Amino acid sequence: MRFDVLTIFPPMFDGYFTESIIKRARERGLLDVRVHDLRGWTTDKHHKVDDKPYGGGPGMVMKVEPFDRALKELKAQSSKLEASRTRVVLMSAKGKRFTHKDAVRLSKYKRLVLLCGRYEGVDERVAANLADEELSIGDYVLTGGELPAMVVIDAVSRHVPGVLGKKASLAEESHSEEGVTEYPQYTRPEVYAPKKGVSWKVPKVLLSGAHDAVAAWREKKRRKKG
Ligand code: SAH
Repeated sequence: MRFDVLTIFPPMFDGYFTESIIKRARERGLLDVRVHDLRGWTTDKHHKVDDKPYGGGPGMVMKVEPFDRALKELKAQSSKLEASRTRVVLMSAKGKRFTHKDAVRLSKYKRLVLLCGRYEGVDERVAANLADEELSIGDYVLTGGELPAMVVIDAVSRHVPGVLGKKASLAEESHSEEGVTEYPQYTRPEVYAPKKGVSWKVPKVLLSGAHDAVAAWREKKRRKKG
């Protein structure tokens, strides 16, 4: 699967996408993450990507033109078939809340283009005419769309076949069913004593070797309380 990110801060993506699972998936050719500097699609000599808001008010608003020019160029690079399997997503605090279901849904596309805002946000004509959807990663405001884009790419990537490897099961993870989270997990030691007189134990049932009892315990624990 291919991801194209449009941002004015490409270096922010360096650390995250060059480590661990995403790094390995890129090396194995399962993921292709390309981060583009939006300023490359400006036409003035100062590479201006923002301007004052019409109607007044504080701060600056990101212009529609660089996004439009960038998307035109990115789309021109792909075949017609691929274009129909591309989704353009604007990261936006007022967008629809991004959930597990969206991660699964978006993983079916061949290509995702993520648009990162900054400053006071993005000219509304980007949402209205260029993006297929607007997604928010939560009800709070961040300083830019870069972390949200990383969150979306990470969550979507886990559903791209092969990215997690054969062993990992997505089916039992948190949120794979509505309102259900993963059961608690434990590893060695059996008893951990953080200080004298205190011991943190692993539930007995997990040490029993009784598969049915373990499965029943896990099923009970997966249900979210309240
Ligand atoms: N003035 C805007 C916030 C702008 S924050 C408002 O009140 O809605 C600047 C940029 O950060 C946004 O354009 C968006 O791309 C990104 N951003 C901030 N919070 C976000 C969130 N919760 N989810 C997704 N993107 C977010």
